Amino acid sequence: VPPVLAIIGRPNVGKSTLVNRILGRREAVVEDVPGVTRDRVSYSAEWMGREFTVVDTGGWEHDAKGIHARVAEQAEIAADAADAIVFVVDSAVGATATDEAVVRMLRRKKKPVFLVANKVDDIAQEADAASLWSLGFGQPYPVSALHGRGTADLLDDVMEKL
Ligand code: GDP
Ligand code: MG
Repeated sequence: VPPVLAIIGRPNVGKSTLVNRILGRREAVVEDVPGVTRDRVSYSAEWMGREFTVVDTGGWEHDAKGIHARVAEQAEIAADAADAIVFVVDSAVGATATDEAVVRMLRRKKKPVFLVANKVDDIAQEADAASLWSLGFGQPYPVSALHGRGTADLLDDVMEKL
C-alpha cells in the first residue's frame, strides 16, 4: 500500500492547485470561490520513482458549525489517515485563528508536518512566508503552487519522511 500524504488548510489557500502541481496534471478542482472540493479526494502520485497517495481536502461549506470547526474537523480526519501532512497557509493572508486551531490539532498527531507558505509567486513575497515561523513547524516552505516555484524542494523533503 503506498504511503499517504494529506494536503490540508483553509479554503482558498491553494490546496487543490498544489495537488495538481504534485500530480503534474489538472485533476483536482481549483476554484476562485472556496468550498468546491469534496471532503477528501485521493489521487495516485509519483515523485522520483516512488508512488504515494495524495489526498486533497475541502468541502467546508458554511454550515451550522461554521467554517472554523469544519476546517479543523476535515483536517483532523485527513491527518489521522495520513503518514505525512502538508499544511498549506496563504502567505499573503498570514496565519489566522483557524490556522492556529489546525496547528494545535496537528501537534497532537505526532506525524511529520510540512508547513507550506503558498502564493509566494516571486522572491519579494518570501518575507511574508518568513512570518509563518511563528506557527512552530520550523521554516515554512515558500511555494507558488500556481507557478511551481518551490514545489520540487518541498517534495524532495516530504519523500524522506513518507
Ligand atoms: P483550495 O480551496 O485551498 O483548494 O484552493 P484552490 O487551489 O482552489 O485555489 C484558490 C485560488 O487561489 C485560485 O484562484 C487559485 O488559482 C489561487 N492560487 C492557488 N495557488 C496560488 C499561487 O501559488 N499563487 C497565486 N497567486 N494564486 C494561487
Ligand atoms: Mg480545493
